[in-house]
Amino acid sequence: MNNISNEELNKYRNDTSGCSGVVHFNNAGASLPPDVVIDTVVAYLKEEATYGGYETEYKNIARIEDTYRLIAELIGAGKDEVAIFENASAAWGTAFKGLTFEPGDEIITCEMEYVTNLIGLSDVRKKGVKVVVINNDEFGNFPLAELVDAINPRTKLILVTHIPSSGGGILPINEIGKIAARYGVLYMVDACQTAGQYPIDVKAIQCDILSATGRKYLRAPRGTGFLFVKKSVQDRLSPILMDFLAASNVSLDGYTLRSDARRFELYEKSRALTLGLGKAVEYALNIGVDRIWQRVQYLADLTRSEFSSIPGVTVHDIGSEKCGIVTFSVAGIDSMLVRNKLVEHGINVSFGGAQATPIYMEKHQLQGIVRASLHYYNTENEIYSMCSLLKQIAKSDSTASVLTE
Ligand SMILES: *Cc1c(COP(=O)(O)O)cnc(C)c1O
Repeated sequence: MNNISNEELNKYRNDTSGCSGVVHFNNAGASLPPDVVIDTVVAYLKEEATYGGYETEYKNIARIEDTYRLIAELIGAGKDEVAIFENASAAWGTAFKGLTFEPGDEIITCEMEYVTNLIGLSDVRKKGVKVVVINNDEFGNFPLAELVDAINPRTKLILVTHIPSSGGGILPINEIGKIAARYGVLYMVDACQTAGQYPIDVKAIQCDILSATGRKYLRAPRGTGFLFVKKSVQDRLSPILMDFLAASNVSLDGYTLRSDARRFELYEKSRALTLGLGKAVEYALNIGVDRIWQRVQYLADLTRSEFSSIPGVTVHDIGSEKCGIVTFSVAGIDSMLVRNKLVEHGINVSFGGAQATPIYMEKHQLQGIVRASLHYYNTENEIYSMCSLLKQIAKSDSTASVLTE
């Protein structure tokens, strides 16, 4: 159901310069940021250039600090459980590589895992760690009973992606969290596509570690991300790279580790982008992520139902609960070509190759799909224009795709 009035929607669209130029359905790639986010970044950079980098930091220290509070509020964490990163891969990798595994240990994951996470898993397999992949059932749902069956005394970690970058579905992270807690297994969630799209509450999820990026549904600038590490788990992770932000009392005999999650960060980063991330989080919180999620579902449902009436268009989304990422293909036409034609006409969609979610794509024998990822600031009319263009593309002679091969 549409829960946001046209008046409210127009405000958000007026807040976003990009909305007047393009139809943007690549929010799972990078959303259009609100103008206030970019203005914050630019103003801070100018201030640095005018007064000096350190001087500007001292002057703005309270605002920079506030970004941690805002992220904590977004995910229901403590401020001392948040670290800021340049992207989700660095956040995820810092946590994962900080864990210690012995040969014979087991890690359980899902078929929808993101490529970065699979690279990390592939590396620990070389050290004798067993990786168990729980495949979705025939309906595309994560089978909780199989997870319970897979857990044994050697299981050291459960690792899942909440909203995968392909497939249109959602994993039941709260239920998985209950199981992880029942068996006392460490639990790590990739919430990259979740942040800003779907409400996150780390206490309800009962996760120990959670990572996310800024540029996707959060509408923050590129080059931002964050990591949550539960207070009681922080000492179980070794920081893989440290500078003076992480350690004090440094001598050749050792050092004292910082007492919060910022021990996993490095000191030098873009303060301008940190503030931009904070602004984006604040913007989402002001709307309410639960309200954003309702509207995203409404628009994605509308898109799926419109697509289903276009001859030649197949929606590939799986699972009983679906997100704002709609994946589809057009019969006889290469998905990259479909993507290019839409983009040529000012409609931003993306091409999803096999590389992002290799296990899932191979299982479903998908070479590539087109991905239309909807955000709350999109409109029904934008969806209708995508559909009318798709009708023409689907009708067009499929030899066009032969020519590009
Ligand atoms: C995009 C994405 C990532 C990686 O995020 P980066 O910020 O590009 O490092 C990780 N997991 C999922 C599910 C993603 O969609």
